[in-house]
Amino acid sequence: MNRSHLIIAIDGPAGSGKSTIAKIISEKMDLLYIDTGAMYRAITYAVLINNINGEDESAVNRMLKQIDLEFKQNDQNRIDIYLENKLINDQLRTHQVDKNVSLISSYAKVRQHCVKLQREIPENYDVILDGRDITTVVYPETPYKFYLDASVDERAKRRLLDAKNKEDLSLEEIKKDIIRRDKFDSGRELSPLKRAEDALYIDSSDMSIEEVADLIIEKCRK
Ligand code: C5P
Repeated sequence: MNRSHLIIAIDGPAGSGKSTIAKIISEKMDLLYIDTGAMYRAITYAVLINNINGEDESAVNRMLKQIDLEFKQNDQNRIDIYLENKLINDQLRTHQVDKNVSLISSYAKVRQHCVKLQREIPENYDVILDGRDITTVVYPETPYKFYLDASVDERAKRRLLDAKNKEDLSLEEIKKDIIRRDKFDSGRELSPLKRAEDALYIDSSDMSIEEVADLIIEKCRK
């Protein structure tokens, strides 16, 4: 691939702090931030509000062709997501979406749709992307690959404290959801979550968000 732009790819399990860290790095290094999980969440949200049976892959595929889903860069160097011209960024982190997103994102057509967009958007920008298959499928060719991990307990604790936990889920509920999602995401047939051999593994259990962000920035500046 003929590309002179900087691409930072971060993968890791649910709640490992990828998006918080990617946002900090995007601000510090002036990069476009693409939260790829939000794309899969947006399709899942569309499935839910259109009352489509998520188990019915063909129905989800049909819906994908019919909906008007747009991803637009905003002033903060992030992506705004519009469904039928309505901004839906704030509807994507509900428990309902959490519960269904792994199934929907395991479908081939859904993945093709998102991966195509992820490979198109950054063409002219320096970017940071986070997700499950960025280092293995979307941008395996970038030299800046990271796998961010933390213990399940630590990840659940972070989610509990997250301002986005508006539904007041308990620590146990969050932990159960994280374990279930990780199992599904790493066990699926297409683009499962796994650590790319040449990705730098970072266990952030005992690190602060700032420390992790600084470590990644240091590795990318070399
Ligand atoms: O990162 P986030 O937790 O928002 O991702 C939500 C879900 O989207 C993941 O659990 C996974 O099922 C799916 N996903 C994916 N590939 C990506 C990003 C997210 O399959 N690159």
